[in-house]
Order: sequence, then C-alpha cells, then structure tokens
Amino acid sequence: MAEVISILNQKGGCGKTTTAVNLSAALALLGKKVLVIDMDPQANATTAFGVEKNEENSVYRVLTGEQTLGEAIVPTEISGLDLLPSHISLSGAEIELSKDIGFPFILKESMDGILDEYDYVLLDVPPSLGILTINSLVAADSVIIPIQAEFYALEGMADLLDAMNLVESRLNSPSPIKGILITLYDSRTRLGRDVYQNVKQYFGETEFIFKTTIPRNVKLAEAPSHGKPCIIYDEECIGTEAYNDLAKELLSLIEADLEDNK
Ligand code: ADP
Ligand code: MG
Repeated sequence: MAEVISILNQKGGCGKTTTAVNLSAALALLGKKVLVIDMDPQANATTAFGVEKNEENSVYRVLTGEQTLGEAIVPTEISGLDLLPSHISLSGAEIELSKDIGFPFILKESMDGILDEYDYVLLDVPPSLGILTINSLVAADSVIIPIQAEFYALEGMADLLDAMNLVESRLNSPSPIKGILITLYDSRTRLGRDVYQNVKQYFGETEFIFKTTIPRNVKLAEAPSHGKPCIIYDEECIGTEAYNDLAKELLSLIEADLEDNK
C-alpha cells in the first residue's frame, strides 16, 4: 500500500515542485513504483516531466468526478514513475468543489483502488492554503515541508502549522511532518548558515530536519525547460546528487519508522 506524501508550503518558490519532480524520479530509479499528483493549476510539475497539458487527462476531471484517477494517470519517460497531470482548468475548481459538503475528502476518496499499485504517491501542492491544499493534506499520510534558505524562510510557517492542526482536529485527518527540507541552500554564505540555524531552533526539538540539504544549482532550474527531471537531464550535477541522497535518506527514515512500529 502506497505511502502518500504531500510536498507542502504555501510559499511560492521554495522548491516544492522541484522536490516533487526530482525526489519522485530518484525514488523510481531506486526501483520504487511512484505516482506524482500535480495539484497546482500552474501545472509546473506536469511541464517538468515533459507531459503535455490537456484537459482530457487531469486532476481537475478527477476531482469533478468526470474521470477516475486510474483513467487520468499517464506514464512518464522514467520507468515506474506515473503522473496525474494538472491543467489550468483546476484554478476554477476551488469554487466548484466548495459546493460539495464533503469537499476536503474528494482527492482521498479518488485514490481508493490505486494505492495498491504504488509504493509512494507524492503530491505537488499549490502555494496557498485553499481547498486544493486541504484536499492534499487530507489525502496525505505525511508531509515534507521544503523551506528556502532565505531571510523570510519562516514567515507564514505558523499559518501553515495552524492549517495542518485544523485539518487534524476538525477533519480527524492527521498528516505528521515527515521532515523539513532546506532548499536553495548555500553553506558558504553566512545567510545560508544563519537560516539553517533558525530553522533548527524553530523545529529542531519537535520535528525531523533532513540531513540532506538541496543546494542552489542552475541545472535544477534548467531541467524543466527540457521536459526532464534534473536527475536524468544531468546525472552528475550537485542538484541530482542532492535529490538522490534525499531519496535514500527518506527510504531509511521510513524503514526506521516501520521498525519502531513493529
Ligand atoms: P515552488 O513549487 O515551491 O513554487 P519551484 O520548485 O517551482 O518552487 O522553484 C521555484 C524556482 O526556483 C523555479 O524556477 C525552480 O527551477 C528554481 N529552483 C528550485 N530549486 C532550485 C535549486 N535548488 N537551485 C536552483 N534553482 C532552483
Ligand atoms: Mg510549484
């Protein structure tokens, strides 16, 4: 049964999509069966996989009940890695979905029956705390929060944690933090190191921070324009190395959790 992980932070530009695309690709190259669900109407993850955006196959049609999730999934160039593409039509979905009294559960319910086919489902979540994000939280077993190593890194974090707590208490759907991921990190700069320390102080007592950090690397930014995850666009670069390390760290973390729960 797949573990569902949402890549979550309502801030734009902190590396959610880059992480969803490259972490999923790295997991697939390690032999895992992975599904990426692009929950962002901007469809950046869809573009990054080189998948054409069309209304025919899209998370929008799944959420509105016109298609099953199984029907809308498309394969990617990487073996073992499938995608549920997004489309700009999803931006209109928030109002439409809110008419359904059970709206927070629509995505989770749509996953019935496909979870057995994957080891991991990664959700690339839009930069807001709206209905699509709530659906992503309800559907998730856990979350990864990418945090950009910049001065405003922790601004808005209280709102994000409040939203997670509300989903847990009101909707009875907890999604614990699997790990905090520092992105766009430059250990050579004072700012980078300071931000890392601040994040450690903020979360260090209560939450896990991945030992792997994601460096600022131009190849990671270039790869989407070639329609490929960076880890196959340039197998050698430091961005690829970091996401391969992250995949291995995540797998050992999950194995350790399984041992603890035995
Ligand atoms: P989000 O999904 O949180 O909005 P993205 O993953 O789309 O963030 O990243 C925002 C921008 O920064 C994109 O142009 C992306 O290519 C670039 N980017 C993300 N991570 C890195 C990185 N580690 N190094 C260089 N550029 C990055
Ligand atoms: Mg994004």
